[in-house]
Order: sequence, then C-alpha cells, then structure tokens
Amino acid sequence: MAPASDAPGDGEKRGLMVNNSLCKEKVPFFTKDGSRNVTWYICGPTVYDSSHVGHARNYVTFDIIRRILEDYFHYNVKYVMNVTDVDDKIINRARRNYLMDQYRSGAIDLNKVIEDLERAMEEELVKQQKKISDTEGGLEKATSSRQKDDLADRVKQEQLKVTKINEARDLLQGQKEEARKLGGKEGINMLLGGSAADSLASQLDARLGATVTDHAIYKSHTLKYENEFWDDMTALGCGYPDVLVRVTEYMDKIIEYVEVVLANKFAYVANGSVYFDTKAFREAGHQYGKLNPAAVGSSLLASESESNFETSEKRTSCDFALWKKSKPGEPAWESPWGLGRPGWHIECSAMASDILGDNMDIHSGGHDLQFPHHDNELAQSEAYFHCHEWVRYFFHSGHLSIDGLKMSKSLKNFITIKEALTKYTARQLRMLFVIQSWDKSINFSTTVVNEALQKEKQFKNFFANVESYLRQHPMAGIQRPGDDEKQLFSRVDQAQIMVRERLEDNFDTAGAVTELLTLVRDVHSYIDKCKSANGKPQPSLLKKAAIFVTKILVVFGLSDAKNDEIGFGSTTSQSGSTGNLTTVVAPYVDGWVSLRDSVRSAVKSNASQAKLMELTDKVRDEDMVDAGVCVVDEGNTSTWRLDDPQVLQRERDERRLKVKEEKLRVLRQKRLQKANLLEKHEASSTSPQEIFKTKDEYKDFAFDERGVPTHDKGGKELPKNAKKKFEAAYKKAVTDHEKFKDSLVKDPHFLQNLRAELQEIVSQILRLEQDR
Ligand SMILES: [Zn+2]
Repeated sequence: MAPASDAPGDGEKRGLMVNNSLCKEKVPFFTKDGSRNVTWYICGPTVYDSSHVGHARNYVTFDIIRRILEDYFHYNVKYVMNVTDVDDKIINRARRNYLMDQYRSGAIDLNKVIEDLERAMEEELVKQQKKISDTEGGLEKATSSRQKDDLADRVKQEQLKVTKINEARDLLQGQKEEARKLGGKEGINMLLGGSAADSLASQLDARLGATVTDHAIYKSHTLKYENEFWDDMTALGCGYPDVLVRVTEYMDKIIEYVEVVLANKFAYVANGSVYFDTKAFREAGHQYGKLNPAAVGSSLLASESESNFETSEKRTSCDFALWKKSKPGEPAWESPWGLGRPGWHIECSAMASDILGDNMDIHSGGHDLQFPHHDNELAQSEAYFHCHEWVRYFFHSGHLSIDGLKMSKSLKNFITIKEALTKYTARQLRMLFVIQSWDKSINFSTTVVNEALQKEKQFKNFFANVESYLRQHPMAGIQRPGDDEKQLFSRVDQAQIMVRERLEDNFDTAGAVTELLTLVRDVHSYIDKCKSANGKPQPSLLKKAAIFVTKILVVFGLSDAKNDEIGFGSTTSQSGSTGNLTTVVAPYVDGWVSLRDSVRSAVKSNASQAKLMELTDKVRDEDMVDAGVCVVDEGNTSTWRLDDPQVLQRERDERRLKVKEEKLRVLRQKRLQKANLLEKHEASSTSPQEIFKTKDEYKDFAFDERGVPTHDKGGKELPKNAKKKFEAAYKKAVTDHEKFKDSLVKDPHFLQNLRAELQEIVSQILRLEQDR
C-alpha cells in the first residue's frame, strides 16, 4: 500500500498522519485498497429535539476534515450519514408531547390543572425516593469498585432529579396566583408551560402511553426535527452526505443482520427480544470494548442509550439489545421474534455495512459515542462478518462545554444552533472550530469566541488591504522584482509547505491558520516598507499571497470565493455579481444620493461644521453599513471593504452602546455633583436661628436667643460636650448662610438655575436610558 499523500505540485514523501481512536495515537493514513477512494460513515442525529452547538461542533468538524481530504489531499470521499428516527428518546418525547397536547386541549378548570400538577409531582417524588433507596441498597451490597462508582453516580443523578422536582414545585407555588389572575385558558397554558408539566407528562405517559395507537405521531415528530437538522446544516455551510440512511427505511436489512449474528452464535433470543452475547464474542477471540475498554461493565454508561438495560432476560449484564420487543404504545415492526424494533447500535452496523461492506476507511462521531455505541457497533459487525477489522480509522471529535460546564437545559446554558446563529455568523462559528484541535475538548466561552472573531478580522483587513492595490492593473508599473519582492515570493512558497505540514499532522487547522496569519503579517510589512520608501507594492505578488490564503480558507469552508477571486467570497459582498445592475448598485447609490441631498440642504441653511460632520458619520454608520460597506477612518483618509451587513450592524451597535454607556456614566456623575451642591445650598438658605428649631429631633428642647439648644425636652440642661457640638454647628451655619446671601446678591436666581440644570441632566439620563 502506498502512503496517502500529495496535494498537487508537491513532491514530498511525507504522508498524512491521523489520530485513530482505535490505537489512541497518530498513525499514517492509508486507504483500504491504496487508492484515492475513501469510505466514511458518520453517526448522524437522533431526531427528537433541536440540535445544539455541541452537535454543530461535531458536524462542522467532520465537514472541515471531509473538505480537507477532498479538496486539499484530493481523495474521493464517499460520505455516509444515518438519521436515527426510531429510538427510546424519540418514543418518549413524541408520546409525551402528544399526551400533553391532548391534556391541554381538554383542560378547562384551572384548579383541576393545579391539582393534577401537584399530584403528579408528589407521585414522582415518591417514585424517585424509592429509586434512591433501592440504588443505595445496591450500593451497600456492591462488590467491585466499578459497580460502586456506577451506583454512587446513579444516586447522585437521582438526587438531582429530586432537586429539580422540588424546584418545579416551588415555582408552581409562585405561579398559582398569577395564573388565577390570568384565568381561563391563558392561566392553564402558563402553568402547563412550566417545568411542573414534566412530571405530569411522565405520569400521563405511565398511565396512558400504552393506549397510543396512532404511530403517525412518531413520524411527524422525527420529520420535524430532521428538517430542522438539515436547515441547521445548510445554515452552518456543512455539505450534505453522499448517502443518507434512515432506520425506518432499513428495517428489512436490520432484521437480516440480526439473523446472521444469531446464526453465527453471537446472540440469543429471550422473550421476543434479541441480545448480543458478549461472553461468546470474547470466547471466539474477539475484543469487546476496543475503543474504551475501561468503560466495559459500566451499566451507567451503557444504560444511557438503552431503556430497560438491566433486564433479567440477559445472560450477562454487559450484553445489549439487538432487537427489542415492542411494548403497547411503541412503534413496532414484524420480525421472526415477534413485533419489535431495533436496538440503537445495530442500525449503524447494518446500514453502514449495506453501503460500505465489510470494511470501511473512516468511521466518525462525537467523543461520547465511543462507549457503548461505537464499541457495540464494532462487536456486532465483527460478529456478522467474522472479521477483526470492520473500521480502519475511528475519528472522535472533542467534547464542547459552555463556560466550563456541560450543556444542559436545567443549567440554562443550552444553546441551540439557531440561537448561536443569531449571535454569530456561520463563518465565525466555523472559524471557532477551525482554530481548535478537532479531537480535543473545547470550551465555548467569550474568550474563545473573541479569538475567532479577532482572526476573522485579521483576514478581512488583509484582503481589504490587498484589494485596494489590485484595483489597478496588475501588470502596470515597474515589474522587475527587487530583494523585498524575492523575499516575499519565497515566504509564499514557504507558507505553502508549512500549511501542508500542518494539515498532514492530523488535520492541524489551527496550526495552518497560524501559518496563514504569519504570511499575512509578512505581506503587511512588505506593503509598509514599500510605502515608507515612496514606492508601490507589486500587485501580482500581493495577489499570489492572497490567492493562496483564500484557497486554504475555501478548503476549510470559511470562504466560497471562486477561481482566482480573493477574500471570503459571496459571504462578504452579499449582492455579489448576481442580479441586474440597478439592484446591485442601489444601496450604494442610494447612500451617495442621500448624502448629497443632506449636504446641499445643510449648506443652504448655513449649518454648522458639526452638523456637516454628523452627515458624514451618518453615511458611514448607517447607509454604508446597511449596504455592507465598512468605511475605516485612518487620519485624514479612509479605506473601505465589503462585509456582511449583519456583522457590521452588530459591530456598530456595540460601538454605539459603549459610547452611550460612557455618556451615561459621565451624566450620572454630574447629577450626583449637582444634587450634592443643591442640597448644600438649600441647607445654607435656612437662617441659623432656625436650623435646630425646625428639626423634629429637637422638638420641645429649650433654646437661647440665637436658637441654639440649651435644655433637653425633660428640662435638663445639656451636658458640656453636647453644647460644644451645637455651638460648632451654629458657627458653621452662620458662615454658610453668609456665603449663601453673598451668592444671592451676585445672582438672585442661582438656586432656580441650579435646579433647572439638575432637571436637565435628569431628563438627558432618562432619554438615554429609554433609548436602549
Ligand atoms: Zn452510529
């Protein structure tokens, strides 16, 4: 077998090295038959809920690697993806939604709804407590440390559920009154929208689940989320798979597969279900748990993917279901073992084998799929084919956490792809994944996102800078390369080699971006050098560098520039070359015409210089931003570049917000100073004779002729130190009052003016605050 290698124009002997989870190290990448054809199966979504940014990380990551293999290393990749549209999670979710919808449409009495919710939570709590004490009982009897860890973890999880139910109960208490005020349907809907409804849904499902006979509810549920998934993938710029396999379209093949595993004596039938026999598998010389041997035996991990995992029907606790007997209310298919449905893992083995045969080059999925899903897939397929190598390279994308925490709805850090795309563009999200190692965990935090935005900006500035030189004819001016040009040419060559080295080293896209940005920096230094020597940089050289940078960004899916275009492509200039001329130029010409009109009327009305500056700011910050043009002031001149209007609007709004916050800060400070001053003046406007007499606390005291207290309300003479204090306060009041009178002589209205000034500051603050 020849080493997998070579992008065109490269005579290097080095080959592609990849991190293969099967051996946990970087190994040379060869295809099965030594050809350029690569077969790849990726575990797709279980379509029961909206996809989140963790899913985005997985699919964008493998989209990037697929593009590198196809467009950089020039492999011909056959990319197969599945959609799991039969699964415990789907059944649960769809049936509960259906039963809740029915309940909601029949609910008319608010008090009855409250009663039902409260009862459901009580029952759920009792059930949970029993589960906890059962598990704790098991924990006491556990012998192996693995069992102990597992059960201890489970107790924690069950306790967390209790906390959640208690929280929901408290919340319901708080919501009751509000719901009663709303009354009727509105109040009912409010209560059923809260987390207390989860308990009610479980209770309804336990009671009525078996009566659900309309299996169309599962289809419509999965269809909704599958469509949403493809919308997300399109929005993220992920290519579609070459082959899509859905479980519901593969029932016959899955049943056949199970039959062969049974015939090969690696499975057994028990009470209408079929289980994989891990003991027989091991005894035949196979390894169970190739990817994560340490996890074998962890019922906690294994049961996450399989309801009713701990059943007495199994021979060994590690065994797992290939085919499950369907309970009433669950979707079911005819099989030799009765009505049932496939276990989760068998679908991937059967469908991947149908398309790719007994051996594939790459199998991929998220890090958390290693055990049990991928290990079980490997076992089933080896049992089916009597082979020891069904997958040559297993790729697992790293985990994504949010601000250091696992994503979860209850932690309120669950970000769907759609939500993420309202905050960032698809290119920014992709850049975020490109500048990370694909197989390492990442933390989705402001710092990491900002790093991605920063890198995107560096590329944008580079393209804008180069483009401004390319507006002249590339062959005009002096062409003979000097030392600086020769040096930069060799830097471009060097960058190509370095990027290749990075990509060959386990698709190190982050390293490749660093190399590209080093080249960007070199180009900028070259331009600056030319400028300071009053010369002009050579356009053909700049273009060469910019085209290389663009090509690599295209490979990563960050740009869709065509042929020898440079930059981010149509994602930068939203109108591009499509549409007729009027449509294309309209936003720019509109901006120019409106600027001209306002300048003319400003001049006619002798407007101030500030007013004119305001107009030029408006065209920069409003009209051009909306048209997708970013104008950057540099001293007395300005440069411009095209960009996504949404990004520019967001950046402009952030800038404005900062300016506003600063204005507010200054105004609030002024308000405080003025208010203090006013208070001081108002206090000193009182005649010193009155300052004590008018205060409640000295009511019924005795005073001397100056109004200074002498005796307390009981008629007792005040002690010396108290008298001393009153004397000092009186003296100060006399001085202050004199000063006040002086000010009044100078300006009889000074107090009113001060009040008016304070009022004006307060209204300015209000206006700014309301304008948020
Ligand atoms: Zn799978």
